[in-house]
Amino acid sequence: MKVVIVGGGAIGMMQARELGLAGCDVVLLERHMCGREASWAGGGIISPLYPWRYSPPITALSTWSQEFYPNLVQTLEAESGIDPQLTRTGLLVLSIDDWERALAWSRDHQLWLEEMTQEQIYQLEPSLRLGFEKGMYMPQVGSIRNPRLCQALRRILLGLSNVEVKENTEVLEIHQQSGRFEYVRTESGNYFGDVCIITSGAWSGGLLESLQVTLPVEPVRGQMVAFQANPGELSRIVLDHGKYVIPRRDGLVLAGSTLEYVGFDKGRTDEAKDELVEIARSLIPALAKAPVVEHWAGLRPGSPNGIPYIGEVPEVEGLFVNAGQFRNGLVLAPASVNLMSAIVMGQEHSIDRSPFALAGRVGSDVGSPAEDPVSI
Ligand SMILES: Cc1cc2nc3c(=O)[nH]c(=O)nc-3n(C[C@H](O)[C@H](O)[C@H](O)COP(=O)(O)OP(=O)(O)OC[C@H]3O[C@@H](n4cnc5c(N)ncnc54)[C@H](O)[C@@H]3O)c2cc1C
Repeated sequence: MKVVIVGGGAIGMMQARELGLAGCDVVLLERHMCGREASWAGGGIISPLYPWRYSPPITALSTWSQEFYPNLVQTLEAESGIDPQLTRTGLLVLSIDDWERALAWSRDHQLWLEEMTQEQIYQLEPSLRLGFEKGMYMPQVGSIRNPRLCQALRRILLGLSNVEVKENTEVLEIHQQSGRFEYVRTESGNYFGDVCIITSGAWSGGLLESLQVTLPVEPVRGQMVAFQANPGELSRIVLDHGKYVIPRRDGLVLAGSTLEYVGFDKGRTDEAKDELVEIARSLIPALAKAPVVEHWAGLRPGSPNGIPYIGEVPEVEGLFVNAGQFRNGLVLAPASVNLMSAIVMGQEHSIDRSPFALAGRVGSDVGSPAEDPVSI
C-alpha cells in the first residue's frame, strides 16, 4: 500500500514509522523540518493533566500509550542512538476540588491515584513551598523529552528504505476524484497514494477546507519557560491550579503553560513569561536562584473536549485524519497512531474507534472548536 502522510510532528513521524515497518511504501511530507512545531514545544508529560476530568475515550488512549511507551522508547533508542529520556518521576497534584470524582475515576479504571497527607507531600517533594495540606499522587506518570523523541523518530525515518521524508514540502491542496483520494499537490509536484493521512496538527482543518470539510481543529497557543536548576533539585512533576513544573534529568525545570486562543500567532509575550516564572518560583522557592534559560511557544491542535479525530473523512475514501490531540498529543500519540494504522489496514483494535470517528463530528454545524475539559 502506498501511503502519503501530511505533517511530520510526533504523530506523523510515528505514523510513518509504524506503517513503514508494516511494509507500506510511505512518503511523509513536511512543510518545514520534522518535529519543530507543537511536538517540539510541549512539556512531554505522559498523562493528561487531571486525567479524571477527561472522557473515557481519552483514558482509553492514554492508558494504552502509557503502557506502550517504555518499550517504544527502548526500541527508538536502539534504532536511532538517541535516548528520548522517558523518566517516571510521578505526578503530584495539589489544590484539588473534585476529590470524589478523581477517586471514582481511579477505582473505575483501576489506575493508581494515592491520597497524600501533608507529611507525605513534603516527603515526596521537599522543594515545595510550605502550606499544602493534601494532594493526590500518580506514581506511574512520567515525562518524555519530546524534542529528543522527535529527533529519534526523524533519524529512524531517514534510515528506512521504504519511507521517503520530504521536508520543506508544503501540501497546498488535496485532490479527490469521484469520492476517492487521488493526490496531494505541492510546489514540487503531486504525490499520489492509495491512502493519505492528515497529521498536520493545528493546521489540519485548513487542509480539508478545499474539500468542503469543516474539521473543528484550531490552534491553541501554549507558552513555557525553562529554568536551569541543579539536577535533583525538583524530583516530581508538580501540578497546582492548572500550572505545572517538570524536572528533566540534567536539572532543567520546565514550567507551563498558557492556554491562549490567538489564532496561528506563535509569538511569545513578556506577560506570559513573567506569570509562568512567578508561579513556578512561588511553587518551588529554590527556583528563585535558577536562571530562566528558555521561553517558547507552540500551537496545540485544539479540538472539542480534547477528543482527537482518528478515522476516514466521510465521502472521501482513502483520506484519513489523525489530528486534534490538543493538550495531550505526546501521551496520546502511540495509541492514536496504532489505532489509525489498524483502521487504514482494515484490522481490529482493542480500543473502540467510534468516539474518534469523523462522521457526525465534521461538517458545517459541529459546535465550538476547542473546548478544553481541563479548563471548562
Ligand atoms: C506548551 C505546550 C505544552 C504541551 N504539553 C504537553 C504535554 O505535557 N503532554 C502531552 O501529551 N502533550 C502536550 N502538548 C500537546 C502536544 O505537544 C501536541 O498535542 C502534539 O505535539 C501534536 O502533535 P502533532 O504531530 O499532531 O502536531 P505538530 O507537532 O504541530 O506537527 C504538525 C506538523 O504538520 C506540519 N504541517 C502543517 N501543515 C502542513 C502542510 N500543509 N504541509 C506539510 N506539513 C504541514 C507542521 O509543520 C508540523 O510539523 C503541549 C503543547 C504545547 C504547545
